[in-house]
Amino acid sequence: MINYQLKENEVAIPLQAFGIQYVCPYCKKGYMIANEKKTMNQKIALIPGRPPMIIHDCENCKKELQLPVAYPKIEWMEMKAAEPENTTSEDKSEGE
Ligand SMILES: [Zn+2]
Repeated sequence: MINYQLKENEVAIPLQAFGIQYVCPYCKKGYMIANEKKTMNQKIALIPGRPPMIIHDCENCKKELQLPVAYPKIEWMEMKAAEPENTTSEDKSEGE
């Protein structure tokens, strides 16, 4: 459990973390893994308005692919189905 004391006007939203993988479009088996070294060494001119491409290698067939974001990545998604926990009456309630 994360021990965080909510401040005034703060609410805690339950989130679920997901590891996002990019399946290799060539062999459709392996995952594309960002290659930081190749990306740093690439000699492509940056096009204004376009994000710099990140070079990935397939862990299976070793093919190279340029993607705008680095994989694997972690995304946080709000858990819509989760019911909010009932607040315990341990804290003294604020009278109005
Ligand atoms: Zn592959």
